[in-house]
Amino acid sequence: MKNTKVVFANCNMVDVKADCAVVRGVDIFAENGIITRIAPAGGDKTGMKVYDAAGKYVFPGLVNAHAHLFGTGAPSKVISGGGAQKLVLKLVHSALGLAVLKMLVSSACAQELNSGVTTLRGLGDFRYSDLIVRDGIRKGKGKAAGLNLVASGPALTAPGGHGDGTFALTASTPAEFAALVDQNVKNGADLIKICITGGVTDAKKKGEPGEVKMTEEQVKAACDMAHALGKKVAAHVQSPRGVEIAALGGVDTIEHGAHLTEEAAAALKARGGAVVTTYTPAYPYYKLPTELTKLDDVRVFNSGIVLEGMTQCAKDAYAHGITVAMGTDASCPFSTQTGMWREVVYFAKLGGFGVKAALYAATMGGAEALGQADKVGSLEPGKRADLVFLADDPTVHPETLRTPLLVAAGGRVIESPRLKRNEKIESVLDGLMKEL
Ligand SMILES: [Zn+2]
Repeated sequence: MKNTKVVFANCNMVDVKADCAVVRGVDIFAENGIITRIAPAGGDKTGMKVYDAAGKYVFPGLVNAHAHLFGTGAPSKVISGGGAQKLVLKLVHSALGLAVLKMLVSSACAQELNSGVTTLRGLGDFRYSDLIVRDGIRKGKGKAAGLNLVASGPALTAPGGHGDGTFALTASTPAEFAALVDQNVKNGADLIKICITGGVTDAKKKGEPGEVKMTEEQVKAACDMAHALGKKVAAHVQSPRGVEIAALGGVDTIEHGAHLTEEAAAALKARGGAVVTTYTPAYPYYKLPTELTKLDDVRVFNSGIVLEGMTQCAKDAYAHGITVAMGTDASCPFSTQTGMWREVVYFAKLGGFGVKAALYAATMGGAEALGQADKVGSLEPGKRADLVFLADDPTVHPETLRTPLLVAAGGRVIESPRLKRNEKIESVLDGLMKEL
């Protein structure tokens, strides 16, 4: 649809900015991938390519605000260390490794797009592979053409921090952190990702999923440099103390999250910051039998803490009028590149925030968190014509997001989205979902 006029006709359009009201019988006109007009159905369509949405629901493309693009979500020991990890890392850093990485990232982007994610934020890669693939997508190349991908490149942390040895680079002094920020931006990073605390996979003690690894001085140095270069900072944080350091140190988005103190909330709000939930991997870690997850009981116990912290963080954010967005943390075990619909359902039911709040967080919330509220997140003239056709009303049955019937993004229309699902993982996760 690039450089052509199209119309998505006879839409039952969900207006996420009007409490998810369904606006029936409208035509959405677009030109060069941008919405030009929304009008009652039946107007003149001469010379336009028509995509008929009669009997279907039309929803804005989803914003997956937290993903890693190097994996499929199939459980493996790579993330949790050991011999398998060493072997994979050796491959990743070889010449062949970069080619493999680019293939994995491209495939992940295509899967995300086909699943209805039209804006995707990559938060931690190997060897800047997300940025290489992003540049191709922006030139209209490959199966993910049209996807609005923003990415951080490798995350940054202190030695021993979350991602050290895998998707993060390490620094010790504040000056070293500033230098790495500069390096990532020179390599094309759209934003900076830092890992302030540990994570579920690296915790060694019960009750400490978010052991603090970075000091406020280190965080401040990274944020100051990023902001000076015009970039936002996303921070992996999984404890209340970590959240405080993040908010006071200058971070823009709190990823995963934990209780926000008054002071932290005030600092985050003043900056126009956001919090991003990632229930998708945390819930299976906590709920599934350990024969499936291969996790020890310390990690299972800590997953429970992380889940509670995430919900608390989002509750605190809402109470203070702070934006809430969501992401899948794809590539973590049990988080696939086609599972954004699950995050929506988890957010609504497990978080207890309800379907409408979930639908908003998955679209406008994400757009606000990424600083793209004027460009994506809702269907309005002047924004990208990023949308999905759905069989059912998502405000009543959010599960319908699982199977988009058409995906439009950045001037491209995918009329028959193709999803490569791992049926084994899907059936395990479907079983879990029935318990909600
Ligand atoms: Zn992550």
